[in-house]
Amino acid sequence: MSSPSLTEFLQRNLEELKKNGLFNQINVLQGGNGPLIHIDGRELINLSSNNYLGLAGDERLIQAAEKALRKYGVGAGAVRTINGTMDVHEELETKLARFKQTEAAIAYQSGFNCNMAAISAVMEAGDAILSDELNHASIIDGCRLTKAKVIRFKHSDMEDLEKQAKAARESGQYNKIMVITDGVFSMDGDIAKLPEIVEIAERYDLITYVDDAHGSGVLGKGAGTVKHFGLSDRVDFQIGTLSKAIGVVGGYVAGKRELIEWLKVRSRPFLFSTATPPAIAAACIAALDIMTDSAELQEKLWSNAAYFREGLKQLGFNTGHTATPIIPCIIGDEVKTQQFSKELFEAGVYAKAIVFPTVQKGTGRVRNMPTAAHTKEMFDRALTAYESVKKRLGV
Ligand code: PMP
Repeated sequence: MSSPSLTEFLQRNLEELKKNGLFNQINVLQGGNGPLIHIDGRELINLSSNNYLGLAGDERLIQAAEKALRKYGVGAGAVRTINGTMDVHEELETKLARFKQTEAAIAYQSGFNCNMAAISAVMEAGDAILSDELNHASIIDGCRLTKAKVIRFKHSDMEDLEKQAKAARESGQYNKIMVITDGVFSMDGDIAKLPEIVEIAERYDLITYVDDAHGSGVLGKGAGTVKHFGLSDRVDFQIGTLSKAIGVVGGYVAGKRELIEWLKVRSRPFLFSTATPPAIAAACIAALDIMTDSAELQEKLWSNAAYFREGLKQLGFNTGHTATPIIPCIIGDEVKTQQFSKELFEAGVYAKAIVFPTVQKGTGRVRNMPTAAHTKEMFDRALTAYESVKKRLGV
C-alpha cells in the first residue's frame, strides 16, 4: 500500500478540523494591540489580549525602543555566547533579577522557548517531573525534550500531588524530582496553591518550577505569584514572559546564581538561537522601570477586572473560580459558546471562544482579559453586548 502524499495528508486533516469546527481562522488586526482593535475596518473592544497593563502601546516603551534602535541597530547579530550579548541584554537580566528578588536571571527570545530551554537543561534520564495536568503547552513540550519520566497530577489537587511525590520518592527509581506548575492558569484564571506545593516539595525534596506568565506584573505588587505568597526564597525556577504584562516579547528564568550560570552554558535556545533584538530588550527595561516605580497600572488592572467581573455576574453569567483578571464566562455547550463569541464580535466585542479540546467537554467559555488600558465606558458597552447576546441565544 502506498503512503499518502503530503498534500493528501494535509488536506485530509484540514478537512477534518473544519468539519469539527476546530479550524481556527486567524483574524488580522489593522494596527496595534490595545483596548480597541480594528478588524475588517471595524472597531472592536478587545478582551482577548494578555497586554494586562496596556504597555504594548505605551509611549515610554516606544521611545526606549526607538532610542535603542538608533544606538544598536535592528538585530543582535548572533547568538549571545558568540557575538550577540550587548549591555542592554545584561541590564535587562539585572533588572529582571531585582524585579523577582532573586540572585540572577536569564532572558530568552520567548516564553515558549524559555520553558523548553530551562526544563531540558536540568532534567535528564533517571529523573522525574510532576506536572499539573493543566500546565501550558510549552511546559509539556519542555518535559518532552527530556528523558525524565513525566508524571501528571490532577489540576491543583494537593492530595494527588502528595501521593505521586511520595510514591516517586519512595520508589527509589529517580534521582532529581521536579514539580512544575503554572502560577496562574490561563483558562480559568485560578492561582496555583503554591504554599502547599512548596511544603510538599520540601517534604519530598523536589525542585520547584513555577511558570508565572500570567501572574507576573499582575500579582504580588507586580512581582508575581511567588512573591504574592512570600515564597521568593523557596522556589527554584521562577519563569516569566516579557510578552504579557510587560507588553513586548521574550521569556526569562529568575533564580539562584548557579542555576542561571548553568542555563547560560547548557540551555539550547540560549546557545543556538540569535539574541533578542536590542530595541526589544530596551522596551522591556522601560516596562520594568514603570512597574518598579509605581503600582498605578496594577491597581487600575485589578479595579477594571473587578468592575467587569461584577458586571458579568450581575447579568447572571458564571465566571467560574477566577481569582485574577482572566475572566471566563462559562457557557458550556461548544456550539453555543462559538456562537456567543461570534455574536459578540458582531456587536463590537472581541472575546474568543475556548472549547474542547483546549478545555474539558461541556465547559466551553468566552474568555475575557480586561486590561489597565480599558475605560469604564468600554466595559459598559461590552456588558450591553453580553446582555443582548445572552437574551438572543437564551443562555
Ligand atoms: N507559559 C504560559 C503559562 C503561557 O500562557 C504562555 C503564553 N501563552 C507561555 C508560557 C509562552 O509565552 P510566550 O507567548 O512569551 O512565548
